[in-house]
Amino acid sequence: MSVQKDREMTANYGDPVITGGLSVFDKEFDAAYYYEGNDLGISYSPEQTTFKLWAPTAGEAWVCLYDSWDAEQGTRHRMRRDINGTWVLKLNEDLEGVYYNFCVQIGEEQHEAVDPYAKAVGVNGDRGAIVDLKKTNPDRWSDEKPELSSPLDAVIYELHVRDATIHPASGARHKGKYLGLCEPGTTGPGGIPTALDHIASLGVTHVQLLPVFDYSTESVDETRLEEEQYNWGYDPKNYNVPEGSYATDPYDPYSRIRELKQLIQSFHDRGLRVVMDVVYNHVYDGHLSTFSQLVPGYYLRYTKDRQFSNGSGCGNDVASERPMMSKFIVDSIRYWAEEYHFDGFRFDLMGLIDVATMNEIRKQLNQIDPTILVYGEGWSIPTELAPSQLATQASAARMPGIGFFSDCVRDAIKGHVFESATGGFVTGVFGKEQEVRKSVAGGIDFSDDIKAFAMEPLQSINYAECHDNHTMWDKIVLATDTESGLLRREMHRLGSAIILTSQGIPFLHAGQEFMRTKDGVENSYNASDLVNRLDWDRCNVHQEDVDYIRALISLRKTHPAFRLQNADLVRSHLVFEPSPAHSVAYTLRSHAGGDPDQHLFVVYNADRNRVRIPLPELGKWELRFGGEYIQEQHDDYVMLSGIGMVVLAVAGEPESRESAASGKQE
Ligand code: CA
Repeated sequence: MSVQKDREMTANYGDPVITGGLSVFDKEFDAAYYYEGNDLGISYSPEQTTFKLWAPTAGEAWVCLYDSWDAEQGTRHRMRRDINGTWVLKLNEDLEGVYYNFCVQIGEEQHEAVDPYAKAVGVNGDRGAIVDLKKTNPDRWSDEKPELSSPLDAVIYELHVRDATIHPASGARHKGKYLGLCEPGTTGPGGIPTALDHIASLGVTHVQLLPVFDYSTESVDETRLEEEQYNWGYDPKNYNVPEGSYATDPYDPYSRIRELKQLIQSFHDRGLRVVMDVVYNHVYDGHLSTFSQLVPGYYLRYTKDRQFSNGSGCGNDVASERPMMSKFIVDSIRYWAEEYHFDGFRFDLMGLIDVATMNEIRKQLNQIDPTILVYGEGWSIPTELAPSQLATQASAARMPGIGFFSDCVRDAIKGHVFESATGGFVTGVFGKEQEVRKSVAGGIDFSDDIKAFAMEPLQSINYAECHDNHTMWDKIVLATDTESGLLRREMHRLGSAIILTSQGIPFLHAGQEFMRTKDGVENSYNASDLVNRLDWDRCNVHQEDVDYIRALISLRKTHPAFRLQNADLVRSHLVFEPSPAHSVAYTLRSHAGGDPDQHLFVVYNADRNRVRIPLPELGKWELRFGGEYIQEQHDDYVMLSGIGMVVLAVAGEPESRESAASGKQE
């Protein structure tokens, strides 16, 4: 702490004489030096490379060229000052394969740093690399995306690249790599499909990848890949370049780019869209960051006494509200969407980013493809910006088309996230029914006593587990220390069933389908492969549970009633029905959302004993899902055997009955 403070006290923000008397912290600085061009970084052709840097507080600026990623000596080329604080240099030669950095004179100091707009880097990302992007496309590279008619049709599956194939029995050749996840036909224990084939067999529509931008060397050193190293990657180093440790050759600047593109294409070819987890809320080291080197004081958020704002808990918050930082984030998102064909973006700690930047991202992505998903963690965290400006759940009304992770659903199902032993609805805790109803209604203002944060159901990302905190299985184990494995399994299934039948967008954590455990490790960001990897042995043992998730996804796809497109439809078709404690029952009435069935009746029962659930008098109820939990069915009630979800229906017109029945599970 004291080290940071000393560094900060001697921090040098440049001589205001250079910037017309304006300090980098002045509001007027933004207006005077905003640069709107889209040519920052390098523009390469075989004949010429143009370098452009935004560094208003620099007294001088140079391009440093190197023959290799680690060459000690390079050549320095002076840049010319241009408009709005930019610097420019054109070199008329073919620089493909050359490495570069920018160097700036700030007061008495010279700082060398990687181009923040770099699109390629050498190993560990300490120097930019000049590549011909046209040569980075894999052999098969198509603009076509898998069909998605509405964001509400999405079923998201969160996955870490390394976790997917690093298990010795994954069957993949390129274990832990982008290419490992491109391999079709891999099999594991018992001959089960693994990795890509397994994921494609589930019926999910989107794979959300944990960070695949270049993250810090302190987390994973790309020059020591023969050793086991593991990190989630929430410590951004180069925002516009893929991480090197997942590439087959991190020393070759082309390798990571081409192989990530190949991964995205492989997913697309299997009908899966791909979401990128982006971390624009902080950088891995506020002092060492390329941003702080090039324009000290500008890109990060400061307290009044010039300390870094630390809402992220990572030591520094990015000042997304400052125009050139906002522009950087928006440009970066556009680049990943256009160059890599990403289909969605998940914003880490979105609640630290300003509303205007998030809305600008939504607007620009709509121009590229309005079906691109945008959602994030809208947690409310203190930072050096007015709460009304922050992209938290409380700002949802001003952020149409942007989703928020629903902590309401998560904590209702399995219990408070920070209290390990506290259970939730599925583990039989009393009084969680109303929280579950909020989830079912998609977080919208449904009634006086059922409302959360969302304006529209697409704003609610419903999940029971993700990479953070305990997996649902581990949480259930902690909250139920005397229960049998069989009961726990029913609790877990019920949790997944609530996620996949609630209004909003369902989100699954990889391995949730086979009751993933991290052996009680709550924060596995740098834990071993043993803790983090997808365990294909466990997947083999839990094939019936994998089938259960497949059936749930199929149920959701068969019944548009579970995917109501707006809040008005939810309010007009969803009716909560009376049911005993530890259960929640509701109907989706009158062909909700164009459903083939006239009415659906859904009951989530968390009571482990036999329980009688009354049925509304709407017609003859037929089974659609969960028959194994029904002991007796009568016209006006069903007897359930214990914990589980049951879906019944009053059929619609005879011709549509067949298609509805195809989602039925016997
Ligand atoms: Ca890296």
